[in-house]
Amino acid sequence: MTGRLIVVSNRIPSETGGAGGLIVALHDALSATGGLWIGAEADPVETPGESLRVLSSQPYSRLGYQLSHQEIEHFYLGYSNSVLWPLCHRRPDLVDLKPAYEESYRAVNRRVARMIAAIARPEDTIWVHDYHFFPLAAELRALRLQNRIGFFLHIPFPSLGDLSVLSQPADFAEWLGHYNLVGLQTLSDVARALEMFRADPRAEFLMDGTVKFRDRITSVRSFPIGIDVEQFQKDAAAQDEQPLGKEAPESYFIGVDRLDYSKGLPNRFRAFGRYLENRPPDQRPCLVQIAPPSRERVQAYHDITRELEEIAGHLNGTFAELDWTPLRYIHRSVPRHRLARLFRGARGCLVTSYADGMNLVAKEYVAAQDPDDPGVLILSRLAGAAEELSAALLINPYDIDDIAGAIRQAVSMPLAERQRRHAACLKAVMANDATGWARSFVSVLSQVPGTLVWPGSTGRLEDSEFLAPSD
Ligand code: ADP
Repeated sequence: MTGRLIVVSNRIPSETGGAGGLIVALHDALSATGGLWIGAEADPVETPGESLRVLSSQPYSRLGYQLSHQEIEHFYLGYSNSVLWPLCHRRPDLVDLKPAYEESYRAVNRRVARMIAAIARPEDTIWVHDYHFFPLAAELRALRLQNRIGFFLHIPFPSLGDLSVLSQPADFAEWLGHYNLVGLQTLSDVARALEMFRADPRAEFLMDGTVKFRDRITSVRSFPIGIDVEQFQKDAAAQDEQPLGKEAPESYFIGVDRLDYSKGLPNRFRAFGRYLENRPPDQRPCLVQIAPPSRERVQAYHDITRELEEIAGHLNGTFAELDWTPLRYIHRSVPRHRLARLFRGARGCLVTSYADGMNLVAKEYVAAQDPDDPGVLILSRLAGAAEELSAALLINPYDIDDIAGAIRQAVSMPLAERQRRHAACLKAVMANDATGWARSFVSVLSQVPGTLVWPGSTGRLEDSEFLAPSD
């Protein structure tokens, strides 16, 4: 790669860094190329500016764009999280279509594109992240940028059927057709993306599996995201205080999720209850569920919070004893090093998503285990991680008996089987850590066909109707 790497995402790491996998993953690539990370500034403003502001410049530049209060409502909570998020997570019934949301989504993408166009050099490579920015390449192309532009979708790719819920479903293929490389989490996501292109008369499949969309070639590949394995292992093995304090249960299962309807939390609680109904009297494990609320101003998130409180109350009301509370339900965020310790101490981890791009918690749990005495990962078949972690106990998150059976199996699983399953999962987690993931995306992006001058066209971008400025 000759130029700089420009990363664009809705969230931007804080100046102190933080230790999220994505930040670690991109750190090397950005530092090595003198790259830039562009993201939304933390606080909304009355009237957003028209240019990027430098937030910090070491070890790479962080540049911010501003959003107005209304854009937080319409672009972020609205179109991104009340239309695209449920659509991609197979919940078209929760899609809240409002013209104002869509207008704001397009307007923010157009403005961010203008700001990027003002600073991008022709040799720079642009890597766009996630569903907030599906149309960003289309907007950049409209401004005549010919740079290599890649896109990575962190969440599941929607099915063709669900896409028809959108007011203009055909836009989706068009948006993606402007990227040189579309990266998705799993092979099933790739299959859904290709199905969408196949159904579009404007797309043509080339011999090498790439898609020619009008006059541009797009490659669609899977890049399962990884975690910072080493750091997690180090944190998990640290000999600091017991994270559950003096009242630590003898044996516990752990769940760690943002409180989101896609995570299958009601069925997880119900399944734990089902297991408790039939448990042998000498088994008294707890379920420690850490679930900080998120996007609370969206009705669907408000509803799931209420529903879970009810189920949790019922579960403890039915099964608690004077010296045993089966469910500990904590609505707070926990520092990463404590999470790692919590994972290591847990007999099992429950991941019950109905739909999930990858689910990093599954990988973190595996990394945190003591290989000599590991716990058991119970993993939804519908989470992206199941493609790599097939040695986990895979469950159907819609089947409460199946999840309860897996809990029973985990409680009594012999050491040799736990070790065997864990070793296979750990191998998969280590084979593709966060840094390797970023490296392989950037490397493929630098090799896929660049801006296309298709035979028959004059090669002048202005001649393409498709690349005409959009406003
Ligand atoms: P999603 O991106 O949908 O929230 P993932 O499982 O892929 O789900 O990623 C969640 C990330 O956030 C993981 O790295 C996880 O450790 C972290 N996380 C989730 N819940 C908490 C919490 N309560 N406290 C701290 N970190 C959390």
